[in-house]
Amino acid sequence: MVSDSPSSSDAPPAKSWPAGGLEVVATCPVCGEGERELAHAGVRDRVFACAPGEWNLYRCLACGSGFLDPRPTVATIGLAYASYFTHASAEGVGQPPRSAWRRYRVAQRNAYLNLNYGYRLTPAAARIPRWLSTERRQRWEKHCGYLRFAGPGARLLDIGCGNGRFLLQMRALGWDVSGVEPDAKSAAAAVAAGLKVRVGPLQTGLLPDAHFDAVTLNHVIEHLHDPIAVLRMALRSLKPGGALSVATPNFEAAGHRLFGPDWFPLDPPRHLVLFTPASLRRVLVRAGFEPEGTLRLRLDARGIFTHCVRLAAGGSHPSSKASLVSTSWLRTRWLARKADRQTRENPGLAEELVLLARRPAATAA
Ligand SMILES: [Zn+2]
Repeated sequence: MVSDSPSSSDAPPAKSWPAGGLEVVATCPVCGEGERELAHAGVRDRVFACAPGEWNLYRCLACGSGFLDPRPTVATIGLAYASYFTHASAEGVGQPPRSAWRRYRVAQRNAYLNLNYGYRLTPAAARIPRWLSTERRQRWEKHCGYLRFAGPGARLLDIGCGNGRFLLQMRALGWDVSGVEPDAKSAAAAVAAGLKVRVGPLQTGLLPDAHFDAVTLNHVIEHLHDPIAVLRMALRSLKPGGALSVATPNFEAAGHRLFGPDWFPLDPPRHLVLFTPASLRRVLVRAGFEPEGTLRLRLDARGIFTHCVRLAAGGSHPSSKASLVSTSWLRTRWLARKADRQTRENPGLAEELVLLARRPAATAA
């Protein structure tokens, strides 16, 4: 079954993954240790419902990361992307707003990013509203990938840029943008939007050395067979002191504890590795980066929980907590508010991890 959008359908993929298209993952892809426990058995692609097969997801006992074993090989993983959201066009992103209300909001956002992130955007509101909700602040900060502006002509690379939506946003903020994208269909959408995008596998030697002021990996690292190799490639491509911004689902999220196998960001078999706050920091250090001390706060449980509740209602896993979770809109909101409150106290419970890091200024990569 092929669908164009996330589906709550519980219809099982018809076949198993092609013979010879699987590889064994003997040790943790993040830390290299071998001790692990089974976190979820027999999970299936219920998000896009286009990938055949059932998958076992393990938790590394050394670093806490999650990983599939066995998993699709590099040669066959494309089967899992037969239908994917980044195939859609990003037309209209980065264009000036049409309505007066949107123009007013954008002027406020510009003022906020100018003051806090060093941008030089116009038109900017004379002052930022005295009171701003955490949600609005983080929406504005997410808009620039939590990156300080590195000056006119500063170069930004988005690894796994998909249809180029984020690059179009960043170009409108003043960056000189380019991307790399392994999925041909998504890359074609980005090129059609007028972006410089290189199509092909994310491999060593693909990028110029010490060229970019910032590199972003926005919900990409969890899709990679060899996250460390790609991070090292990103490190080399950054100028010394250049910034890396990584966003990825949090394996220790409040939602994962609540929804178990119905936690939608498990997304097998596209998500090969799932990180915890500690293991994400660890993998960045292992690749040569200097990560920031704290995570960027993200309160966004509602969007994730809405999908989880749909999956839970499908109830296709014997261990599903569907009976515990009402499908009502009100209950979803209540659960999400509670999770966001917990996350305010402890950002390590956020649904999404956002961590910034730098290429060390003094040492060679
Ligand atoms: Zn590990």
